[in-house]
Order: sequence, then structure tokens, then C-alpha cells
Amino acid sequence: MSDRDFLFKPFPEMTDADYEEVGFRSGLEIHQQLLTEKKLFCRCPAGRYSETYDAEILRHMRPTLSELGEYDGTALMEFKTKKEIIYRINRNTVCTYEMDDTPPFMIDEPALDISLGIAMLYNLNLVDELHIARKQYLDGSIPTGFQRTTIVGVNGWIPYKDRRIRIVQLGLEEDACREVSDVGHRRTYLTDRLGMPLIETVTAPDMRTPQEVADVAQICRRLVRSTDRVRTGIGAAREDVNVSVRGGTRVEIKGVPRIPRIPLLTYSEAMRQWNLLRLRDELHRRGITAETFRSDFEDVTKSLQRTSYRPVRDALETGFVANGVVLRGFRGLLNWQTQTNTYFSREISDRVRVVACLTTLPNIVHSDSASETLASAEWEAVRRALKATRDDTLVIVWGSKEDAKTGAQEIAIRAKEATVGIPSETRQALHDGTNGFERILPGPDRMYPDTDLPPKKVTEERLERIRKSLPVPIWTRESFYHELHIPEDVVRPLAVSRLSGLFETLVKDWKVGPTFASVALIQFPKRLRKRGLDPGRVTEAIFKDIFKLYKDGKISRDGVYLAMSEVAANSGLDATDPPTVPSSADIEALVRRAADRLACLEIHNPPKREHILTGLVMNEVRGLVEGSAVTAQVREFLKERP
Ligand SMILES: [Zn+2]
Repeated sequence: MSDRDFLFKPFPEMTDADYEEVGFRSGLEIHQQLLTEKKLFCRCPAGRYSETYDAEILRHMRPTLSELGEYDGTALMEFKTKKEIIYRINRNTVCTYEMDDTPPFMIDEPALDISLGIAMLYNLNLVDELHIARKQYLDGSIPTGFQRTTIVGVNGWIPYKDRRIRIVQLGLEEDACREVSDVGHRRTYLTDRLGMPLIETVTAPDMRTPQEVADVAQICRRLVRSTDRVRTGIGAAREDVNVSVRGGTRVEIKGVPRIPRIPLLTYSEAMRQWNLLRLRDELHRRGITAETFRSDFEDVTKSLQRTSYRPVRDALETGFVANGVVLRGFRGLLNWQTQTNTYFSREISDRVRVVACLTTLPNIVHSDSASETLASAEWEAVRRALKATRDDTLVIVWGSKEDAKTGAQEIAIRAKEATVGIPSETRQALHDGTNGFERILPGPDRMYPDTDLPPKKVTEERLERIRKSLPVPIWTRESFYHELHIPEDVVRPLAVSRLSGLFETLVKDWKVGPTFASVALIQFPKRLRKRGLDPGRVTEAIFKDIFKLYKDGKISRDGVYLAMSEVAANSGLDATDPPTVPSSADIEALVRRAADRLACLEIHNPPKREHILTGLVMNEVRGLVEGSAVTAQVREFLKERP
């Protein structure tokens, strides 16, 4: 017991020493879409998303018992859920390959090049020969029931703090369908994303605090982005985070959409595991083990026929049944805290939701609950029906006869697992930073060789060509920038910017000051955008032209900014007529000219006159002079000529 005296503190109060105390370990599986025109094993377009569809296909994902293999928890779970799957198909984005009617085409060569390049950046040992494998997927997210995948490299590393984070492997694989909805026994998918090339990078569980996990995720994100060959935007990069604590189990949190959410999510999972281990200690103290665990269930519909508790009453009125489950010796334990504001009862409710498909919440009530549910006479009736004592906990679950039975069985299964420890499962990231059960973790035997495609040699020439086109690793770039003492907030954006190569040319070959160059390339475009201009017009080629003028002494530093402003405001750059800063006298002349044009109009409201004059002048000098400078000159002018 003394081994787990530690109690989790609120998230902001946890220290690195606290995480060491509980033996926090975490690793990442990063899924990143590659920027290709086509899908990985067919010639459909990649990255063309649409909610519209031409057809729907219905499939029953019901693995036969022979497919279940030896105790594969996922397969067994999908077998129990009896889902029907709907695929929505848009003929512009899917062909017969994705729907398993035609064999695969050869692998998409650009996707292979990009993945090999990224594998090099991760310092991985590349394979000489690609072997395509099938990875079993039984949740319906891939119509064929398997994903084609191939390992590109193994055993790499990236630098982090004073150590290395090990990269276990990098795989090139097909993306799965996009889920539209999952209600009751029906799950619906869009198929446009299916088959798009994706890399999966797996790190070793080398991160020791939640913050380290987020840091490493950021490094990996910037590393792949520095190639400029990956997709960005919603859903283009998705993190799975696995977490364990000392004595715990590796649990995967799936589909974390944003890196800043990782610290709280991993904290919550570590806390959950720690508290489940403490719950096991308590159960053992009460003499409850997997061997002595006892539970029964009975149909208690009759006893609850007249209940005033709405969720049960409404269900029974529609013809559903209610089952009562007794967990012997569990008194009070459904209120055992697992995560922040989350208790063991949620573990049970989640299982019932996912496995019995009872998705309307609440889907259980229990006798440990402090809130008003069933009347005490009703609890007594259930207690008598199940021959329960005061030391036991009662749980009620309701639904169709079949679902209520699956639910009752699942309640007992999950409670019994608590006597053993932490089940291997994948969990969903929730908005409040906690997580919920998603599915049982697949067994290790879900890979098998694909006989449709022959092995493919990775030639030395190919690797040499890719190596030449690779960007300098971001950590090398960043330490170079630090040596140059460029502003701290420019270092990271510049390292992944497509202008980083130009920056090196400017600094090394053209002897432009590093701070000036970095500010002009990274910070000034942001200012232009704030002023409503389009910095995208300042392309790399135009940047070069502008800096050429600067290098040749034709324009000053201000002239560089002015030229950028002009291009951002009006597009083209006329290198034969470099921009010059309008002097104070130039602006004054412009103000006079504008005033003359206004003279024929009667304007009685002085502030309005100032506004109109400023507007007229700005039309001519936008991007060259700040608005505030023009306003000041207009005011001076109006003082003289009110
Ligand atoms: Zn296709």
C-alpha cells in the first residue's frame, strides 16, 4: 500500500518530481498526411474533401468467430457491438480499389520519396526493400477491414534537451475514412480521405512529464513541416499519445487534435491509471480478487415499472427492459475518483455505451450515487431480487432485451478488471482534458503480409537524390540562428519557413545583417497583413529582387520595407524604379493638392474634412507611409487653413 501513498494534485500544482514519483512514461504516434496529388495505392485525387455523396453502401462489420483469433480484444468487442456501417461515396474521390473490388496499383512514388526524406531527417535506418503489409482494422473505418502499410525506417532519434528521444519506426500507410456519426448500432463514414498517404512516426516512451510530450510533438511537427511536403490544416496531423505509470499499462489516447492539449490529457491519463491501481489495492484489501470476484444480474423491469426516475421510466414505457447487476463487496467504489471530477462509474458507463451501444446518457444508475435516482423502496426491491447485502453495489442498465443483457455482462466484466488493474484500451480525448473509453487495444498480431504487391527495392540512387533535396534539420538551423543572435521569436518560424534557404543566402553570401534579414522575412510580412495588405504577393523571387537592390546600394533598409509594402499593396515590383520614401515635403504637397480638389465642396464638419483629406492622401502613399504620419500632416495643414 505504502507504494502508492501519493495522491495526484491539481494539474497546475504537479511538479517534475511528482511525475517521477508515479513513474510517468509517455510516447507518441504521429500521423501526418503527405502533400501528394494522388492516393497511395490508387490514382484517385488526395485531399479533396466534400460532404456531398453520390451513393451509400451498407456493410455489416461482423467478424466471424474464426477471425477472432486468440483472445483479440478488439475483434471480440466489435463482434459484440454488432454495428452496421454506412459508407458515403463521392465518385470524384473514390474508385473500386478503396471498396475492395479491384487490386491495388503500385505505390505512389512521390509519397514514397517524401516519407523516405522525412525518415532521413529522423535519423532512421532505412529499409533496402519495402514490404507491404496489411494491418487489420475491424472498426469499419476501412471498408476492406485492413490498411495497407509499409515500414520505411527503424531505430532513429531526435535531439531533445541534453538527450535523445528514440524514434522506433516510420511507416507509410493509407488514411482511414472520416467518421460522420456513431449512434446506436449505426456508424456512418465519408470515404474521401480513405487511402490518402499518411506517415506514422512512433517514438519510444521516452518522455517523462506531460510538458515533455508536448515539446517533442512540436519538434516532430516542425521537422515534417520543414520539408514543405506535408499537409497542414484541420485533421492533417493527428497525435496518438500513449501513457503509463509505474505498475500501470500502456494506454493510448487517440486522435489528439491540438498539441497544446497534450499536457492536460496525459496528466489525466496518468492520474486515472494511478487511481485505478489504488482502487485495486482497496479491492484486494477487501479480499476481492479476480478469483473471488462475484457478480450476478437479474431482469428487474417489474420492480421499476412505476419508477418516477425519468430515464428508466421513459425507457420502460417504450418496451425496453431493465437489468440489475450486483457487484459484491463493491460498496462505495463506484464513487472512487479516477480523473478530475470523474469516478469509476464512468469507466462502467463508457463500456456500456461503446460495447452495448447504449449511447443515450445516462445509461446506468448505481446505488453508490448521491444524487436522486430510484426511490429507496425501488433500490430495496432490486436488492432483494439480487440477494444483495449492504456491502454490495447495485447497478441498473436498460435498453432492448439484447442490449440490456450485453450491458449487464459488460458491467461485471469491467468491475472484475478493476481487481486486476488497468485494461489495455484506446481512449478518446475529451474537451475537458479527461478521456473516455474508445475500444480495447488491438493485440500485436494484427499485421500480416500483403500478397497483392511485390516487395519494392529502395535504390541507392533514389536515396541519394532525396538526400540532396532535404532541408537542413531544424535543430541545426535553430542553433545556427542562435549563434547569429536573431530575435528569439523569429527563430522557430524561420526554421520551418520556406524562406529559410533564402535567409542563408542573404546572410552567408550577400552579407545582409542577420537580424534585419530575419525581421524582413518573418516579422514584417505579419505587420503588412495587419495593415490589410497581402504579403503573399512578396514571393521568394521578389524578395530576392528587393534584397538585390539593397545589396547594390540602390535602396536603404527602409527602402526594403517600402518595396515590400508596395508589392503587398499593388503586386509587381519595378526594379528600374526603386521605391523612395515620400519626404515630409512630398506629403505636404499631396495634402495641398487633395485640399484643392476638395475646395469646390462645402464641408462644414471639420473632423469629416480631416478624414476625407487623409483618405485621399493615403490612396497615393499606402504601404509607403504610416497612416498616423499622414493624419498628423493633415491636422497641421488644417490648423493653417481651417
Ligand atoms: Zn481510388
